[in-house]
Amino acid sequence: MREVPDTIACASCDAIFQRAKLRSRDVAYCLRCGTELERHAGTLQRRVLPLTLASLILFAIASLFPIVSIEIHGLHSETTLIGAVFVLGREGMAPVALLVLVTTLLFPLVHLCIMVWVLVPLQRGRRTPGFAGLVRAMQSLRPWGMIEVFLLGVLVAIIKLSGMATVVLGPALWAFVALTVLLTLVLAFDPRGFWEMAFDRPQNA
Ligand SMILES: [Zn+2]
Repeated sequence: MREVPDTIACASCDAIFQRAKLRSRDVAYCLRCGTELERHAGTLQRRVLPLTLASLILFAIASLFPIVSIEIHGLHSETTLIGAVFVLGREGMAPVALLVLVTTLLFPLVHLCIMVWVLVPLQRGRRTPGFAGLVRAMQSLRPWGMIEVFLLGVLVAIIKLSGMATVVLGPALWAFVALTVLLTLVLAFDPRGFWEMAFDRPQNA
C-alpha cells in the first residue's frame, strides 16, 4: 500500500504544513488562517457504510409514503413527496417542481448511491473504477442536497394548515426527520476519508 504524503495544504490559504499524527478526536487547524486542515476519522470510517445504507432505506420511506394527510370540511387528501412534485408541475410551477425534485430527491439519492458504490469495494480494500471522479462528483453534489430546507418548508406549511384543517402526520414526515439527522452524519464524512480508506491502513480509533 502506498503511503500518505506527510505534508498537507490549507484549502483556504495554500499554506503547506507537516502532517501531524492525529489521535482520536484530534483536529488540525491552519496556523495562518485557522481553517480546519484535517480531523481524526475516528470510528466514522467503519460506521459510514451502515449509516449510508440506513439513509437509503429512510430515503425510500420518505419519498414513497404520505408526508401528511389533510382533512378539511370532510374532504380528505394526502400527499407524498413525488405526488407534491407532480402537483407543482401541473399547477404551472414547473421550475419549483424541478428544484424540489433535484434538491430533495435526485441529488441526495445519487450521492447516497455513489457512496455505496465506492464504499462497498473499499471494505475489501479495492477501489471502484473511476474512484477519483466519483469522489469529486460527491464533493460537487454535497451543497445541492437540501432535504433540511424541504423539511423546514413542510413543517411551516403544517403549522399554518393546522389552524384550518385536521392534519395527520404521515410516516414519510418522520422518515424525513430521521433522514435529515442521518444525512448530517453521513455527509460529515470528509471526502478525504475515502482517499485515506483507499491508500491508508485503517486507523485505529
Ligand atoms: Zn490557511
